[in-house]
Amino acid sequence: MVADGEGFLQPIIDQNKCIECGMCMRTCPALRDVPKQSDEQKAFAMISHQDRTMSSSGGAFSVFSRIILNHGGIVFGATLDNNLQCRHIGIENVADLSRLRGAKYVQSDIGSTFLEVKKNLLKNRKVLFSGTPCQVAGLYSYLGKRYDDLLVTLDLICHGVPNQRTLDSYLKKLSFAKQKKVTDFLFRKMDSWSIIPSVKYNNGKWERLDLWENAYMDAFFKGITFRESCFNCKYCNLNRQGTFTIADFWGVGGGLLPFKENIAQGVSLVIDNQGKMSGYIDEISQLAYIEERPLSEAVEKQHNLKLPMQRCPERNFAIRLMLDDNVSLFEFAKQCGLPHKKTIKHFFVRTVKNMIDRLGLYNLYKTVSYKMGKTS
Ligand SMILES: Cc1cc2nc3c(=O)[nH]c(=O)nc-3n(C[C@H](O)[C@H](O)[C@H](O)COP(=O)(O)OP(=O)(O)OC[C@H]3O[C@@H](n4cnc5c(N)ncnc54)[C@H](O)[C@@H]3O)c2cc1C
Ligand code: SF4
Ligand code: SF4
Repeated sequence: MVADGEGFLQPIIDQNKCIECGMCMRTCPALRDVPKQSDEQKAFAMISHQDRTMSSSGGAFSVFSRIILNHGGIVFGATLDNNLQCRHIGIENVADLSRLRGAKYVQSDIGSTFLEVKKNLLKNRKVLFSGTPCQVAGLYSYLGKRYDDLLVTLDLICHGVPNQRTLDSYLKKLSFAKQKKVTDFLFRKMDSWSIIPSVKYNNGKWERLDLWENAYMDAFFKGITFRESCFNCKYCNLNRQGTFTIADFWGVGGGLLPFKENIAQGVSLVIDNQGKMSGYIDEISQLAYIEERPLSEAVEKQHNLKLPMQRCPERNFAIRLMLDDNVSLFEFAKQCGLPHKKTIKHFFVRTVKNMIDRLGLYNLYKTVSYKMGKTS
């Protein structure tokens, strides 16, 4: 894989070695037809009380990982390393789960993970692989069969991915604007159910990002920094390739069927795509709260279970601007139509939210606003 002009990793063919067998075209997850999976999908809400305050949603990833690790298996997922580079790694101990927890909204470098997965499967070892649906499909393509007795795959509902170079440029612009070195970055808050990014500077303090400082995640939600293949994604639908699909269960309990658990610190959506839940339910029930919910409720608030993100006309311009060292972060936000200016309304909302946060009332606020119909 080699980074293209925009920084997206692309497969490159060595013409000296290629025998034109066409296998790469037949197995490429972006080009091949997606095999039809089971029609019998079931949706579940899951909350792991011991994991969710350290996880993006309800901690479903940690629950499945604990089960595989308890059986002497190995878990592969995406980490953000000390240099803030996102890549897939394997872990063999529960203590290392913290390296994989948390969504990183950037393309993860898969490296030699598929090879490692296969090596472990051939040793008859249980393996969990978590990633974007195209990564999961790529893994199955590479393996050539599902290894259902040993391999559990978790595909995320996926909005799309920017690349590492865009993230590097963003962090560089932020450091420059604030005149402080960024030493750590969190794409979203994990102790409550919100997508609030924050950054740690070399003074050791975490700061919540807002307005132009938050331009990376605002651009992510608008979809203006995504890989081209994300706009034609074959996996933004219910034909899921993973054993299970995991995501935020936005909207749980918002319809006719109430959800009685406290949602404030996060609820995971788990879709059983292969009818495998019955084999895990006993172990899951010892680790987490789990409740079956209507599939329609799971789909309702998930745009990317229905359609891929639509390509915006400003997509190329936005990436060029982010990669340009001469453009400030404020200018990027302004030119891309992202929030950047302080207004009276913004000042008021921010002051109230800061107060709620300082008083430790954020989760109460979240519960009340959720009950009032603001479900994500
Ligand atoms: C790029 C991206 C887009 C997403 N889009 C949506 C969406 O539109 N709707 C929605 O409901 N949820 C989305 N999610 C999933 C959501 O943000 C949570 O990651 C998911 O609910 C898991 O939460 P958790 O509490 O079980 O796990 P956590 O403990 O938070 O673990 C996160 C899991 O995600 C994996 N992961 C993190 N970053 C990456 C990455 N860059 N590439 C591959 N795997 C990664 C880790 O390996 C781990 O398995 C997205 C995640 C990513 C990474
Ligand atoms: S899979 Fe076949 S066609 Fe594709 S690069 Fe390799 S040899 Fe060439
Ligand atoms: S949107 Fe589709 S193509 Fe893009 S990263 Fe997600 S699964 Fe892959």
